Amino acid sequence: MEKLLEERWFTETPDGLCLVGTRCMACEKVFFPRKEVCPDCYEGVLVDVPLSKRGKLHAFTLSVMGPPHLDKPYVAAFVDLPEGIKVYTLLTDCEPVKEVVRVGMDVEMVIERIMEDEAGNEVLGYKFRPSRTEKAS
Ligand SMILES: [Zn+2]
Repeated sequence: MEKLLEERWFTETPDGLCLVGTRCMACEKVFFPRKEVCPDCYEGVLVDVPLSKRGKLHAFTLSVMGPPHLDKPYVAAFVDLPEGIKVYTLLTDCEPVKEVVRVGMDVEMVIERIMEDEAGNEVLGYKFRPSRTEKAS
């Protein structure tokens, strides 16, 4: 069986599964994951907003050590989304890392296996990979 790591991180759109954040109607800031109260202005009504699947690589690090359930080595990264937020992610399809991965490169979100749980279920989550389709705007 397959399941999502955190269902509340995702929403179904005509473009498939994408990440969902909240936008504060008072200060317009967007947050991910969803927040109940705006951490910035403590006011306003928060509404769900699907987040862009494309962004730009802000920073990354190649890790050879890490949580036992993750395949290693892995690349952890922050991606800038057009909504004005940074999202923590794993990078995938980025070998060889030293040649492929560049800060500022276009990346796109994919749904992929993150790990296997104790019951043997495939646990899916989001990752980003070097963009294969049209450029992020
Ligand atoms: Zn706010």
